[in-house]
Amino acid sequence: MNGARDGEAWEPRRPGVIRRVLPTVLAFAVILGGMAYFSGDLQDLLGTAPGSPRSAAATHGLYEETGPIDARCDTLPDDVDADPAASLRALSTCLDRMWAATLAQADLDYERPREVRLIAARDKAACGIDDYDWAGIYCPERRVVNVLIEDWHAFPMMFTLAHEYAHHVQEISGIADQRGSEVFDEAWSRRLELQADCLAAVTLRSSWPNQLENFRRLAGGQSDTTGEQESGYLQSHGSGASSAAWMLRGGQAGTVAACNTWGAPANQVS
Ligand SMILES: [Zn+2]
Repeated sequence: MNGARDGEAWEPRRPGVIRRVLPTVLAFAVILGGMAYFSGDLQDLLGTAPGSPRSAAATHGLYEETGPIDARCDTLPDDVDADPAASLRALSTCLDRMWAATLAQADLDYERPREVRLIAARDKAACGIDDYDWAGIYCPERRVVNVLIEDWHAFPMMFTLAHEYAHHVQEISGIADQRGSEVFDEAWSRRLELQADCLAAVTLRSSWPNQLENFRRLAGGQSDTTGEQESGYLQSHGSGASSAAWMLRGGQAGTVAACNTWGAPANQVS
């Protein structure tokens, strides 16, 4: 199994590498059914130099120029579990609307993912590597969202879809489009992934507050004493406690600004 240092497995700029893996949470889910802000010394606040890739990601206009996201999704069926694929399609349409409206506030054009693949096997992903227990992958170069349909409860898959959409927004907005030596190390990956968790919570908070809270608590309760594969996952995605903390921020504030993992101190993205 790949550890986090296996660059083939997770470097975000390469096809098939932004992925979500929540094996423990998924298992339990089955059971349970700006610059103004940075007006001080940017380097002190960020722990990284102004002009660096991370400071560019941390000071993106999307944080200050957008307000709370209207996360209602009225077109979803009442029973999302009856036909999970149909529920995911409906959510996809809502996510397109939410992100188009939000990016417009920052004068950014939104482009839908070129494809949203709901796949039954990992080797059907547009950029998949069948080497890891992932639940979803975003392919940045092809701009394809892939979600594995493997559960009969829709919410974990809906969270995965919202998380992969967040990777799409990171990509098209330019947040993730940075160059430099710090890009794609493990700390960079954790900021990218925890931001996607936070943004997923922002977009799901209105329609599924209770499911989101249950999901968040499960993520936060995951043991961090793990084997090699889980260790690699934690290095690249952050701890369950960090994920839960960012989901809470996003779910409570409902803004992109609340999800600025790039400006957070290292202990919040561990
Ligand atoms: Zn991810």
